[in-house]
Amino acid sequence: MGLRIYNSLTNQTDEFVPIEDGEVSMYNCGPTVYDYFHIGNARTFLIADVIRRYLEYKGYQVKFVQNFTDIDNKIINRANEKGVSASQLSKKYIDAYFEDSQKLGIRSADVHPKATDHIPEMIQLIQQMIDKEIAYEVDGDVYYRIHKFSDYGKLSNRKPEDLLSGARVDIDKRKENPRDFDLWKSVKPNEPSWSCPWGCGRPGWHIECSAMAMKHLGESIDIHAGGQDLQFPHHENEIAQSEVLTGKTFARYWIHTAFLRISGNRMGKSEQNFIYVRDALKDYPAETIRHFLISAHYRSPLDYNEASLSDSNSAVRRLYNCLSRISSYSEFADSGIDVGGSEIAHTTSAMMTSFESAMDEDFNTALAVGEIYKLVGHVNRFLTQEQEQLMEADRVALGVAYQSLTKVCMVLGIYTELESTTNRNTLLVNQLMELVIDIRKDSRARKDWVTADKVRDWLHEAGIELQDTPSGTNWKWKGN
Ligand SMILES: [Zn+2]
Repeated sequence: MGLRIYNSLTNQTDEFVPIEDGEVSMYNCGPTVYDYFHIGNARTFLIADVIRRYLEYKGYQVKFVQNFTDIDNKIINRANEKGVSASQLSKKYIDAYFEDSQKLGIRSADVHPKATDHIPEMIQLIQQMIDKEIAYEVDGDVYYRIHKFSDYGKLSNRKPEDLLSGARVDIDKRKENPRDFDLWKSVKPNEPSWSCPWGCGRPGWHIECSAMAMKHLGESIDIHAGGQDLQFPHHENEIAQSEVLTGKTFARYWIHTAFLRISGNRMGKSEQNFIYVRDALKDYPAETIRHFLISAHYRSPLDYNEASLSDSNSAVRRLYNCLSRISSYSEFADSGIDVGGSEIAHTTSAMMTSFESAMDEDFNTALAVGEIYKLVGHVNRFLTQEQEQLMEADRVALGVAYQSLTKVCMVLGIYTELESTTNRNTLLVNQLMELVIDIRKDSRARKDWVTADKVRDWLHEAGIELQDTPSGTNWKWKGN
């Protein structure tokens, strides 16, 4: 069975068929860079990262674009408060985005376009809309006539006539229709501005993403992703701007990530209840935070709390402990020995099938993680019971289990080869433990019981247990 994606555009789970065979173009709405990003923002960026990694795992060549909104009301206000320019402020937070996202194991996009580098493209789109009478200019502001686009509301399932009810409406007498949205804002004091055929000013937020997505990925893209809060009006307006000009479907699959909640409320800047990623990373390793953020399906709400983080922390340690116990068998994996009868081999192959089924069904990371831990539990039980008489086939099967586990964990980013502190620390601990075990072995061979006992006592205090077996000495953290 192939990949299926819940598509906000069709309100159903659709089979994924890219425009070009074997290739995927994907656009994710990036941060507005006026502050550090918080764990709630991180969920959206991380889910896009996992989707991208899984598409690559399936063999697609993915072109992934994530923008920076570096001109916006919030940026201008914050820059004026701080007495710096909007570009100085946005540069600081673009650098911080890269620093924090890399620590969190979120890969950089293929292109990270900045809105301010695409002003000519935006002006061109707006001019085309003015020429076609889709847009109109009043005192240097330019608005989009939503009644000119008959499909307006198709993403958010809102009819233009319903748009006035409920939502807060900007009452501006200069607009023909209160729901017409701005494409361009005329210049104001203390604001950056660019010149254009209808006067100086700056772009509206929605036109930024239409211009950047179409410039870097073409008029039709496969996947457009973003947080649930962007579905309306941001994404609805992106569709309206792009499709009214091209006559083509702007994005075929729309993916929206649910909110991260804290104490029952949405985590957000406006709610003042957020935790910066850089602060969370002081308390937990990156893999723990990633593990937590993918522990629920991306369309389900997820609650940020200490207990869940602590559970994820233990789970990641259990995973790493298992991987370190079987990493030495990796070299046997390609030996060509038949492991058909091995229980570990059977469980590994079942895990791979279930992992792919879970991810193929709208990227169900919660189920996928569960499948990984079934195998981890099985390997741990097997090692405890069978360690003393491992057969050749068992070693090979454990090697295959190691390779399979690292492969799927890398897709989810909960195991990152040599990239992360946790992993570096784990490797370092393993190397030091090999050394310590060697010292103890040599001491015992020399009948130096004082040193040998000292080593055992010291390890005991550090929470490490040794297990002597005929094939050598193994170690584990107590309680694992
Ligand atoms: Zn956007």
